[in-house]
Amino acid sequence: MSHVFPRHTRSLPPVVARGEGVYLYDTTGKAYLGGSGGAAVSCLGHGDAKVVAAMKAQLDTVAFAHTGFFTSEPAERLADRLVSLAPEGLDRVYVVAGGSEAMEAAIKLARQYHLEKGETGRVNIIARRQSYHGNTLGVLATGGNAWRRAPFAPLLIDVHHVSPCYAYRGMEPGETEEQYGARLAAELETMVQELGPETVMAFVAEPVVGATLGAVPAVPGYFRRIREICDRYGILLILDEVMCGMGRTGTLFACEQDGVAPDICAIAKGLGAGYAPIGAMLCSAGIYAAIEAGSGFFQHGHTYLGHPTSCAGACAVLERLVDDRLLDRVAPMGATLRAALVDRFGRHANVGDIRGRGLFLGLELVADRDRRTAFDPSRGIAGKLKAAAFAEGLICYPMSGTIDGQQGDHVLLAPPFILTEDHVGELVDKLDAALAKVL
Ligand code: PMP
Repeated sequence: MSHVFPRHTRSLPPVVARGEGVYLYDTTGKAYLGGSGGAAVSCLGHGDAKVVAAMKAQLDTVAFAHTGFFTSEPAERLADRLVSLAPEGLDRVYVVAGGSEAMEAAIKLARQYHLEKGETGRVNIIARRQSYHGNTLGVLATGGNAWRRAPFAPLLIDVHHVSPCYAYRGMEPGETEEQYGARLAAELETMVQELGPETVMAFVAEPVVGATLGAVPAVPGYFRRIREICDRYGILLILDEVMCGMGRTGTLFACEQDGVAPDICAIAKGLGAGYAPIGAMLCSAGIYAAIEAGSGFFQHGHTYLGHPTSCAGACAVLERLVDDRLLDRVAPMGATLRAALVDRFGRHANVGDIRGRGLFLGLELVADRDRRTAFDPSRGIAGKLKAAAFAEGLICYPMSGTIDGQQGDHVLLAPPFILTEDHVGELVDKLDAALAKVL
């Protein structure tokens, strides 16, 4: 018997024995290709010598010191580096232990910012349906992921949701991307006006929607319009780059490709690349200045803020991505993987859409390709695909599309940036074999 709290399986999953490059191996010696980097975590693959060495060296120096008393050299170095690489204006960094923590901090900071400025009535958060911002209560409320929210609905704060930017299902026939983006921006503006602009504190969105939609970027121009609306009404733009950030889409921050900079940005997953539990919230100088001029401190905190060993790991991850230029591989390898997916599944009867950016790609699975009909949720396509792929030796990230009955099942791919063309071939073959078993 295992005393480890079970996750989704009733039977004990294989025991992982070691990781090397893009593969994980279980104790029987079976190899699993990391097609989704866990959940878009392992951007460097396993056993990266530089990251391991940096963390070991930090453990030998000082593993932990509480930020109530000390800062540390790796925490300072990480913040400096992130600011030097971040979109214009983001210049303070709050280092936490994961994505939900980063997003919780983002929301609390937004509220405190308005309070410090005397705008006490700004209490409303607007986010998007079919979004995921984490599993702690505040960010669970912020996300629009129906099945994750359902059991806890009575405990959740009231958050307002508008439509996601989901061209495959959201665009009207005959509508251009430009018109679609404008329509969604108008929907946000209408909600702001209905709530009263002086009551809205923040708009929250993932630049490329990960877990709930399967790598769905916004149409060109959408985020620029959203930025304008936020500016017009003094609303903070919080971008959740926990999954799509840290190079996953081909630029270090996904929002660079949308031509906008947020007021607050959350990152995690790829920042630690699986070597360290770490996340960070970046905010603008203006927000920091308001806190500094007001109460003087951000009324928040966790024990593992700025954890030195995690920060040392994250600094090394950034060295690998930027200095060793692994980031440069993302766009070309992403194009190679996308072309292979289109080649193999582009005319598949049950693959409705292939989308994403860089090495963050998604396939939407449908019962009827022409009508875009989703599979009946009772078929449990996503769960079966995950199991079939795993049996083939492929880790991918399928999700059920039952949310609001508005989408199909999808499978998310987010392999390590060290992926080669051979790995692309193996990934596509294994996914094909798994799909054939399930459909
Ligand atoms: N935001 C997004 C966009 C995510 O994908 C996730 C994790 N899947 C989170 C927040 C929460 O991160 P964590 O699981 O590290 O708390």
